Amino acid sequence: MIDFALTDEQLMLRRMAHDFAEKEIVPVAEELDREAKFPHEIIAKAREVGLININIPEEYGGLGASVLEECLIAEEISWACSGVGTALMINNLAAVPIKLVGTEEQKKEWLSRMVEGELASYAVTEPNAGSDVAAMEAFAEKRGNEYVLNGSKTFISNASEASFFVVFARTDREDRYKGISCFIVERDREGFSVSKKFDKLGQRCADTAEISLEDVVIPEENRLGPEGSGFLTAMRVFDISRPTVSAAAVGVARRAMEEALRYSQERVAFSQPIVRFQAVGHMLADMAINIEAARLLAWKAAWNVDRGQPDTRAAAFAKAFAADMAMKACVDAVQIFGGYGYMKEYPVEKLMRDVKVFQIYEGTSQIQRNIIVRELTRG
Ligand SMILES: Cc1cc2nc3c(=O)[nH]c(=O)nc-3n(C[C@H](O)[C@H](O)[C@H](O)COP(=O)(O)OP(=O)(O)OC[C@H]3O[C@@H](n4cnc5c(N)ncnc54)[C@H](O)[C@@H]3O)c2cc1C
Repeated sequence: MIDFALTDEQLMLRRMAHDFAEKEIVPVAEELDREAKFPHEIIAKAREVGLININIPEEYGGLGASVLEECLIAEEISWACSGVGTALMINNLAAVPIKLVGTEEQKKEWLSRMVEGELASYAVTEPNAGSDVAAMEAFAEKRGNEYVLNGSKTFISNASEASFFVVFARTDREDRYKGISCFIVERDREGFSVSKKFDKLGQRCADTAEISLEDVVIPEENRLGPEGSGFLTAMRVFDISRPTVSAAAVGVARRAMEEALRYSQERVAFSQPIVRFQAVGHMLADMAINIEAARLLAWKAAWNVDRGQPDTRAAAFAKAFAADMAMKACVDAVQIFGGYGYMKEYPVEKLMRDVKVFQIYEGTSQIQRNIIVRELTRG
């Protein structure tokens, strides 16, 4: 049986997230973007109402939300500002590997620290290894019951703010896939530094920085999962995180459609509202169709995870489709606004800048298609 209806609790959660987004984020989104200011106050308020750390199980103090519920929240928050969305959701991302492969002691320690107010980051990408995760070079050398880490990670969300990091590094230089392990590295370890903070096209209030590891010593207890299982863990994390990222892209597209629809009913050209021109109306109709389709793909991929069967192909379908459709929806929204769409006084130029990264992070649109064709040819 298929049931697309949300439960009363899920409807309430979505309403609460929307009200929060409208009241706390929309009024300040433009200023945060202009000044590239990290949304500390919004994060503090989100903590008060329970909109951060939502995927942390209740026994560690979180909300214990399902991935579908994460999708509902991600869409509403990103409807208001996807930069704030990224800043708020990174703890969820960092929590996934801890939940997946962490020991009971590790879960108690690290998940509880997030609930108590700490931010965490998730560090896979390196200056010379982005899409090709297995090309990473950061190295963790085992010395007795410690590891010594060297290397750098780039484009790491929330890195300037986080107090600990889930870091992937090689423990074997030869074995491309089975030579990678996963660790937790605290910010205050000697030799750890945030080396560069990026100025970005969009999602400007979200923090993106480079980190550097110079002879950083961590205890063996900070390794997540068995040595050599890091690549598999990173891939398993993607299957769980991509539905939520897809839902966030849906949120941006929905905002673009709402703004463009309103404007097209008010703006008059050739003595009639521009929505009456078929060329404009069809752009809006396509946005509506594609938003619905992307949301369903995201929910389906989330549902797979929630019933214990994460599906790589479904997650890639959702991510590729949602990111590309959201990009197009925002470009078309700017088109519908005409010259005003290009100006900072109107909200759609920010949406168009913010949305581009959905085709890049969490695996580019090309990588999603590589995954899909690999899954298709696997038979
Ligand atoms: C704002 C922002 C936040 C981010 N946050 C994080 C984070 O928190 N943690 C983290 O670890 N990373 C993060 N990233 C990194 C992000 O995941 C990578 O940028 C992304 O995976 C692409 O890697 P790359 O930038 O090295 O591009 P590359 O891998 O160099 O790709 C460049 C181009 O080549 C294409 N390409 C590469 N390989 C193939 C292929 N096999 N087939 C077809 N096309 C290919 C890509 O699709 C892309 O168009 C973030 C990035 C950004 C921009």
